[in-house]
Amino acid sequence: MPTNTAKTPLTLLGLGSMGTALGRAWLAAGHPLTVWNRTASRAEGLPVEVAATAAEAVAANRLVVVCLLDDDSVEKTLAEADLRGKDLVNLVTSTPARARARATWAEERGARYLDGGIMAVPPMIGVPAAGPYVFYSGSQALFEEHRDTLAAPADARYVGPDAGHAALHDVALLSAMYGMFAGVSHAYALVRGEGIAPTSLAPLLTNWLAAMAGSIEGTARRLESGDYTTGVVSNLAMQVAGKATLLGTAEEQGVSTELLLPYFDLMERRLAGGAVEEDLTGLVDLLRG
Ligand code: NDP
Repeated sequence: MPTNTAKTPLTLLGLGSMGTALGRAWLAAGHPLTVWNRTASRAEGLPVEVAATAAEAVAANRLVVVCLLDDDSVEKTLAEADLRGKDLVNLVTSTPARARARATWAEERGARYLDGGIMAVPPMIGVPAAGPYVFYSGSQALFEEHRDTLAAPADARYVGPDAGHAALHDVALLSAMYGMFAGVSHAYALVRGEGIAPTSLAPLLTNWLAAMAGSIEGTARRLESGDYTTGVVSNLAMQVAGKATLLGTAEEQGVSTELLLPYFDLMERRLAGGAVEEDLTGLVDLLRG
């Protein structure tokens, strides 16, 4: 029996670094592609239909993927487009509130809307072994219908109907990443100029951070149970007592304490509130105010 193997055609708005990587992945997977980019020359050499305007590109296909710089460029680019009956997938990194507002904006114009948060850099796109994925939230019907197409460049993970939740997951992961980067910057600064090669510290840091990442699940379980003390291994009182050593070492080494201090301040505030037997879980509540 003949089977229909035709791949869904789609429109892609934006051929920056990420848009180009996505476009190449869809082409490699056999999807016919119509593109528009403000600077048209970026499409040169790609086997795609190049639309003269964003509105024309949107008119070409039901599935329209947007990968522009920011939310303002999305608003400008789609101003003249007829979105009625379109399935709009917006991969622009945004805040949850802006994603929700964009969903309402698109739905008022007659489109189904899915917001996406890309957890990858361009070289990972289309390379499953590199582990790229995209958080999606918004219209579940849109997601289910186009799941295979969306999964061609990067694994597709649906996180719920609230259009803001893809952005929220994205930014939560990025925020944790910057906390880690801050610690790594501080660690390299401590050993700099001491005859310790950064390349000798690197594998030690990598292994230590990987081992400490084991605490992430425990924090989640404590947050869900509300019990912040049972089974605590490194209590807050002990950790706060270590502050003098960590800050003292930074001062001895002539390294700024500006990255470490705010976190120790939080720990001290939680401890002052009586959380002697807790670990760091209670800081989450302190941050929520
Ligand atoms: P680039 O800076 O490489 O490309 C930006 C794109 O937006 C280009 O197509 C540019 O067009 C277009 N653009 C900028 N301003 C306007 C405007 N006012 N009107 C119309 N088009 C405009 O960015 P990326 O491709 O790297 O990023 C795109 C999105 O992907 C961003 O939201 C980013 O946060 C997200 N992302 C990127 C990652 C990365 O590592 N690159 C990782 C995860 C997410 P032109 O070519 O004409 O300048």
